[in-house]
Amino acid sequence: MNIKQADQQHIIGTYNRQDVIIASGQSATCYDETGKGYIDFGSGIGVNALGYCDEEWSKAVCVQATKLQHTSNLYYTQPCVELAEMLTAKSGYQKVLFCNSGAEANECAIKIARKYSFDQYKTADRHKILTLTNSFHGRTITTLSATGQDAFHHYFFPFTDGFDYADANDFAMVKMMLSSGGYCGVMFEFVQGEGGVIPLEHGFIDQLVTLCEELDILTIADEVQTGIGRTGTFLAREQYHVLPNITTVAKGLGGGLPIGGCLTDEKTCNVLSFSDHGTTYGGNPIACAGAIVVLNRISDTEFLQEVTRKSAFIRSELSSCPEVLSVDGLGMMLGIALKSKKASDVLATCLEQGLLVLTAKDKIRLLPPLTITQKELVTGLSILKSALQ
Ligand code: PLP
Repeated sequence: MNIKQADQQHIIGTYNRQDVIIASGQSATCYDETGKGYIDFGSGIGVNALGYCDEEWSKAVCVQATKLQHTSNLYYTQPCVELAEMLTAKSGYQKVLFCNSGAEANECAIKIARKYSFDQYKTADRHKILTLTNSFHGRTITTLSATGQDAFHHYFFPFTDGFDYADANDFAMVKMMLSSGGYCGVMFEFVQGEGGVIPLEHGFIDQLVTLCEELDILTIADEVQTGIGRTGTFLAREQYHVLPNITTVAKGLGGGLPIGGCLTDEKTCNVLSFSDHGTTYGGNPIACAGAIVVLNRISDTEFLQEVTRKSAFIRSELSSCPEVLSVDGLGMMLGIALKSKKASDVLATCLEQGLLVLTAKDKIRLLPPLTITQKELVTGLSILKSALQ
């Protein structure tokens, strides 16, 4: 079978695939069909938190697959409840709704914000959600609306109504808009990932959260990319010292299986009740069994200290690189601004040399598995540095 040809023939062409067929992987290294190895600084866009086929994770998933692969949300299951208990305890939230992706977790958060407002104020007029320019919240019609980038607002009209955009870090603008009324929520990423790996300013978040509390507007943190240890704390919110009313997670949570979660605080945890929301696969036992291993591993404080240490190591290695203008981001979510090279050219050179990197806007983006070994880091960085020369 000619995989590339068959892919083009049978799969709708919405992805710009790199010229490699990935066949297997171990730790932070994957292999193509010919056995050529690639150190992976992308982890499947921030998903493979424990790398490829982590022994404990694979075992838990396989054992669960031989026991119970799916039932439905009509019944209780142990892995789903165990994960919910761990996730709420670790995150500081009260309850979670499980779904299958980041976009779905955000959809759930949006529904909660709108219903909370309706329940409290008994008017449909208080339904707007403010998001930030340059944000990314997903690909469903509603989460495209939430995404504050014009490039995503073509073709698929009509988009979901009720989303406005304010400039990131511009508190005066946010205050003016929110004070004009009609808003039930504000949604933001602590570090804008797809938008170019740009952390929001601490002062902005402080003021935003305080204002929203005053106006009873719910804060929704989209931690789909920043969550589950990626930034060096379990959630990025810990570094900003705030507890948004709702936090969404996905990507790293399942360690490679599709699962998302919408985490709710005291104010929001009982907004949805029977039949208000649901999804067939939400809380799937196999995905939950994998996620339990991810959370157990991240619960070790040394694990997160290592994420921070590796982040500092990457930054220090890149600081001596003349082509590097700056390195932005938090923990192992890093964006490298380049002086003269095109990010897509650097990506292509890296691929040739056996390193997978990502891009975000005009930056090189790194989201390595949190468990990447020092040896893999050193080898990967030496390829990256040579591609930057
Ligand atoms: N939110 C953020 C911050 C993301 O980075 C992404 C995906 O990149 C999403 C939402 C959408 O997640 P998914 O692709 O799982 O729907």
